[in-house]
Amino acid sequence: MPSGKDLSGRKGTGTTKKNAFCSFCRKSYRDVGPLVEGPGDVYICGECIKLCESILEQEQRRRGGPKQLFGEIHTPREIVESLDQYVIGQYGAKKVLAVAVHNHYKRLALGWEGSSIEIEKSNILLVGPTGCGKTLLARTLARMLNVPFAIGDATTLTEAGYVGEDVENLLLKLLHAADFDVEAAQRGVLYIDEIDKIGKTSQNVSITRDVSGEGVQQALLKMLEGTIANVPPQGGRKHPEQQFIPMDTTNILFICGGTFVGIEDIIQKRLGRRTIGFGQENHRVEADLAELLPQVTTDDILEFGLIPELVGRLPILSSLAPLNENGLIKVLTEPRNALIKQYECLFEMENSEVRFTDDALAAIATRAHARGTGARGLRSIIEDVMLDIMYELPDQEEGAVYTINAAVVMGNEKLFKMPKSKSA
Ligand code: ADP
Repeated sequence: MPSGKDLSGRKGTGTTKKNAFCSFCRKSYRDVGPLVEGPGDVYICGECIKLCESILEQEQRRRGGPKQLFGEIHTPREIVESLDQYVIGQYGAKKVLAVAVHNHYKRLALGWEGSSIEIEKSNILLVGPTGCGKTLLARTLARMLNVPFAIGDATTLTEAGYVGEDVENLLLKLLHAADFDVEAAQRGVLYIDEIDKIGKTSQNVSITRDVSGEGVQQALLKMLEGTIANVPPQGGRKHPEQQFIPMDTTNILFICGGTFVGIEDIIQKRLGRRTIGFGQENHRVEADLAELLPQVTTDDILEFGLIPELVGRLPILSSLAPLNENGLIKVLTEPRNALIKQYECLFEMENSEVRFTDDALAAIATRAHARGTGARGLRSIIEDVMLDIMYELPDQEEGAVYTINAAVVMGNEKLFKMPKSKSA
């Protein structure tokens, strides 16, 4: 039975029909939970109430005059300076992103009413190995611009038509990030990761996924070009009975990222150079990628397997370099919310102090580097190193200084507590 109250606040009397359903979305209370009863045989479910709320809010905002959808437009230089606080290196990508984003938001904010020249949107494609800062760049940008930001994964879409998700679910994530403020979401930034995995000729995929890969690319293409997409508010696959939220993707800035494993071979071939022999994998990853990736062109991306129309909709192409051990040490210590700074803060909260020696930082970087996942490995390594001490810390005397050296990082030395006087 619908356990809802009616609009006068009276408790449901049990006289409501067993098969009551929401008068707005036509779903039964079994599917959507309690219903609120109106006069006559009218019911509304929680989901529709939320939807109504967001519609009314939007209407109110519209009546309250034009809303500032994003703050002032930062210059490319300001954008790069801001990115520098969080992202180590990757200067080329930062510059390219800064110019693209500056132009994008200038175009939106100024509107260029009356101008016969329409400035087209420039979506961005970032190519670079795992854990080198592609997502971080996009996320930092969005935070700085104060616009909704969401991350989607193209691989979840690869089996569209089979079991996967519809492309519109990516937009739903953006809608969630914007608290269902459609207007704000329509000016947001959507980062789509693993775009390389839907390439029709990419390796490691079965024939069926190759086929669907192209289908997904077509669907993505529409979204990138600018379309009115029907977003299912509950996610999942489209359902004929579901109510959709129409969303205009024209002004969404799409940043696509991918590792494009093996693209260095394509670049190398194009440049007419001989492939470096096998058996030098580690060196190859580092030196070759750093040298070859900046030379990536749209032709290489096409050869990798993305369809020309999609590549055409990603006119800004930039590469990110793999992080070497020095870079990883910087990631540990320099960004505003660097891992080491976070630990220092945690120790400060316990009125203690932690110090990482230079060789400890180098040892952490070496371990992370060996994993081949870029800066991604850093957190789990440092958490592993710090587990015992974080366990003990709250029970220890306050005011102590803890020194983490390479031996502690390598697990050769246990560190619990070192009195202040004995510390390095
Ligand atoms: P990907 O390139 O695979 O998208 P991410 O941007 O998700 O990698 O990086 C994973 C994590 O590694 C980030 O959250 C960040 O902590 C760290 N990281 C990676 N690259 C950098 C970088 N260039 N500067 C600072 N931190 C980085």
